[in-house]
This record gives sequence, structure tokens and C-alpha cells, in this order.
Amino acid sequence: MNARTSHAQCPICDNDEVLRFFHLRGVPVFCNRLLESAEEASQAAVGELDLVFCPDCGHVWNQAFEPALVAYDPAYHNPLEVSERFTRYTADLAHRLIDLLELHGGVVVDVGCGEGFFLELICAESGSRGVGFDPAHNGPATVAGTGYEVSYISKSFGEVPDLIPADLVCCRQTLEHIAEPQQFVQNLRAQLCAKAPCGVFFEVPNSLFSFRDLGIWDLIYEHYSYFCPKSLRHLFQRAGFGASRVSEEYAGQFLGVYAGPNGETASGLGSKTPTVQEIVTFRRRFTGKLARWSARLAELRRTGRTAAVWGAGSKGTMFLNLTGAGEEVTVVVDVNPKKQGKFVAVTGHRIVAPSELVHNPPSEIIVMNRIYAEEIQALIDDLGLNCRMVFA
Ligand SMILES: [Zn+2]
Repeated sequence: MNARTSHAQCPICDNDEVLRFFHLRGVPVFCNRLLESAEEASQAAVGELDLVFCPDCGHVWNQAFEPALVAYDPAYHNPLEVSERFTRYTADLAHRLIDLLELHGGVVVDVGCGEGFFLELICAESGSRGVGFDPAHNGPATVAGTGYEVSYISKSFGEVPDLIPADLVCCRQTLEHIAEPQQFVQNLRAQLCAKAPCGVFFEVPNSLFSFRDLGIWDLIYEHYSYFCPKSLRHLFQRAGFGASRVSEEYAGQFLGVYAGPNGETASGLGSKTPTVQEIVTFRRRFTGKLARWSARLAELRRTGRTAAVWGAGSKGTMFLNLTGAGEEVTVVVDVNPKKQGKFVAVTGHRIVAPSELVHNPPSEIIVMNRIYAEEIQALIDDLGLNCRMVFA
């Protein structure tokens, strides 16, 4: 399908002169749900991507997204803090926010807190009280340490009628899952930012990484929205947050947006969008990259060699599904113990610990996220393996 004008309306700026540019069927609805057997994995639900681009604010969204298909419960599991690199980033982010807000003994609310790693860290470091919202949370309801306490509510914040006047509201890797982003941000502001001054920090995947830099394995059904700096800032301004600062985070793979005290610095990033050229050529570039990987896997099959995929999150799941990987990919490695022993949605590849590679060493390791290269190399060296790393 070539890019063409669509009559849909941009969910961020309401522009209705938008471009439909990418369509894909048979995409797993969940990349991060734990599946107990290859059989269960083969029956995993699939959905459709029908991506639309708004040339005004640069936003991309999936107009085929059906929120009812994506119900989060405790079987959904996607913490990234099992990586040392990611943990370092999270700790640095917590300290930056504490410094920016001069946060000591306040109230921190985390919307979409997952297992609460970030919330507990920022509360412990600032002596704050924390409240975490997440329908997928299944740990203890309260966690307390020296000088801090965190309580968890296994619901979305909209289901709790009381106002929680927070000093800092965080919402990381959540907004892109929401089918009505304007409503969501407005409600969040009304319900949680009653206290002035209140700092707000959101983090989302960076669509420039997907559409400009061809990070194609990040196009997943779970994401309704693909934010660029301009659409993210526009959303915040419309919700009444005033000046906000957009930053690239995590080697450009994420965007952060901060509004609140001490953050009102103009940012050159704020107007960046994927270009129309990048969007109209995306289908061709996507197909080219996919074809190269499918050919590479076919070559492994033909010559009786094998590969392991490193990373069983969104990227790994989409890589295996899109390339049509078969038995030449013997296993998928993930350092998260909760994912080990489970199976990849639809393709049914088994997820194992790094140490399992020694039993049947693959010819190569296909690394899903280059940012972990050093960490992976160290693990491979420790295991005494001599496999080549290639980057998807
Ligand atoms: Zn727009």
C-alpha cells in the first residue's frame, strides 16, 4: 500500500489531513505476556497495524487498535530493570527528577508503575511517600523502608475517585498504550496534579527511532501511539501543562517530557517529527530490512547452522514473528528469570537463561537491542562461548 490521504483525525492535534502509510496483519496482540507452553503460544491472539501519520504534529497511531483486546493483568510482565544498563539509566533519571524538584519528603505517584522498581527507588532516595497504579501489579500492597513507604493499587488511576495531591507524577512507558491520550493526560492532571507546584514526567518510546532510524521491531500492537518530540509536547500543552521540556533518553530510544517547577527551559528537540519523506518511504525500507533478515535466517537453515535471539521482549517477539523464524533459531535468551521457561507469542520459541547456551552453542547471537551489547558480551565471555554477535 502506498501512503495516501485518510479521513481519520489526529488524536493529538485533531488535524484531519493525515496519511495512512503502513498496514500489517497477524501481529501478536501481546509481546510481553508470559506463555506457559509452545501450544499456548501458537494460539496467542493477533491483531492488525494500520498506521496513520499526522503531518502537522508528527504523530503516528494505529487506527486498527482495539483497546478491548489489550487488557493488562498480572500475566503481563515487562520490567526492564533486570539489565544493569537499564537499572543505571533508571537510577540516573530518579536522581535528575529529585534534583530538579528538590524533592524531599513529598508524595510521588507513578501511573503504570509495573513492579515498582522506579517508584521505590525514587521514594527511598528522596524520603517520599509513593503511590503506584498498575492493573498488572501483583506484588505486596505496601512496601516500606527507612524513611519511605510505597503503596500499590492494582487499578488504573481513573478508577480511584479520590484526589491524590502529588509533588511528582511519573508515567513511564504507559501513555503509548492508551487509546485516548488527550483524555488520559487531562484526567491525570485534574486528579493528581491538584497541588501546586507539581512536577510531571512522562517517558515514551521515541518514534524517530522507529521511523527515521528503522527500529522496525518496535512496531507492536500494544502501542496505540508513536510519539515524536512535537506531538508529545503538543499533547502536554493542550492538556494545560504550559511549558514543557522534551529530552531524548536512553541513547535516543525514548523521549522524556517534563513539566513543572524548574523545568521551563525551551528545548530544540520540541519541534522534531519524522519527515514526510521518512514516512512515505517507510514501507519500502521496512520491507527491505525484513527481506535481508529473512534471507539471513534462510541461509542459516540451508547450511545447518543455528542462531539464538537475545531479548524476549517486544523487539525479540516481533523479530521472530516478522521474519518467520523457525528451528534455525534454537532458543531466545532473556536475563529476566520470570521469562525463562516461557514461550514467545505465536512462534512458540522457548525462552532460556544465558547459561543454557553452553549446552548447544549457536553459531551466532542475534542481539535485539544494541544498547546491551557490552553487557551481553561480558555474559558470553563468562560462559566461555565463542559466538558471533549480530545486531537486528
Ligand atoms: Zn496531529
